[in-house]
Amino acid sequence: YFNQLAPGSPFFAPKGAIIYNELLGLMREKYQKFGYHEVITPQIFDVDLFHTSGHYANYRENMYFSKVDERDFGLKPMNCPGHCLLYQAERKSYRDLPWRIADFGRLHRYERSGVMHGLTRVRTFCQDDAHIFCRVEQLQQEIKNFMTMLNEVYQTLGMHEYLIYLSTRPEKRMGTDDYWDHAEGALSEALKALNLPFTINPGDGAFYGPKLDIMFVDAMKRPWQLGTLQVDPNLPGAFKLEYFGEDNKEHKPVMLHRAILGSLERFIGVYLEHTAGHLPLWMSPVQVSLLTVTDRQHEYARTLEVLFKSAGIRVQSDERGEKLGYKIREAQLQKIPYMLILGDKELESGKISVRLSKGKVIEAVEPQEFVKTILKEIQERKLESAFLAAPEITNQEAKHSSI
Ligand code: ZN
Repeated sequence: YFNQLAPGSPFFAPKGAIIYNELLGLMREKYQKFGYHEVITPQIFDVDLFHTSGHYANYRENMYFSKVDERDFGLKPMNCPGHCLLYQAERKSYRDLPWRIADFGRLHRYERSGVMHGLTRVRTFCQDDAHIFCRVEQLQQEIKNFMTMLNEVYQTLGMHEYLIYLSTRPEKRMGTDDYWDHAEGALSEALKALNLPFTINPGDGAFYGPKLDIMFVDAMKRPWQLGTLQVDPNLPGAFKLEYFGEDNKEHKPVMLHRAILGSLERFIGVYLEHTAGHLPLWMSPVQVSLLTVTDRQHEYARTLEVLFKSAGIRVQSDERGEKLGYKIREAQLQKIPYMLILGDKELESGKISVRLSKGKVIEAVEPQEFVKTILKEIQERKLESAFLAAPEITNQEAKHSSI
């Protein structure tokens, strides 16, 4: 939902918020596995921060400012400057590196009203943003870890096709040729070690370092730039970041900016198009819909609702006096993965008929068995229903679909 009182700033209604939070949950699971620490950092900073980071000089037109107590403040357009402050907060030694910090902080960037577009170009968003501070020698391993994590996330989401671009040194740049050789070499070696094909974009890197861009190709074969990894020795320089090496001397770490989904808002826009709204079960706002045939099954529906809710399943019950065929069609339009048909037969036997969104029906399923099966499907973030492999009850399907 958009409202003109907050231009370009999406509202997420309850179902949208579930999708949003499930994606955060997926990323948090990966952060745990890949050794990231999640942090929470302020929204508004004294503009001095953005003078140091260079955002005031180079990015001012895209920022929001405010004056409080005669001090000038800016809303953060990126998390990086705040993360540099957090790095400085404690003295670091080589043993602390790589230090990987992730932040789902809300960002604000001013976009001209002409360029705003649905969820894909907005003025406020959050990213699955993280920064890795490491030693130059650790670059290649960190890049490998990032690509492995990205691949796991994309496969889980059913995003099997993506292209990798490596942008190399531009004509106008800072840093020595040695540094560029090493940074570009680390990126290409890491990709080669993982057998990942990539295309080189010569001269397209940032003035301070090379980068990887990952273009996801959606079901309609449209490319979307989502993931990115950028090598940056510049910001650690601006903030005078250091670590003590094995030689007991001070060294400057390298900073990696990286994201896998990119902006969550934009990602959700892209993903809804890619899947045509058929989300995997774990991400679906409503996972199970109970459809009663007559009001004789209302109590049975309520008992099942309690059972499913206590198992942590998102369930809704459609007890309206509408025809079953109408209820099925509506649940299908809402792309609800599981419809449970409750008629007299189910009531008497204490079992359920499971109807998948694609039309297949499996009869006489034990409710506890159903719970066990779909909890596994949710937990393992499966893309396909386990019931797709179950034997089909054809006459029953014919009966329901003809209603
Ligand atoms: Zn950054």
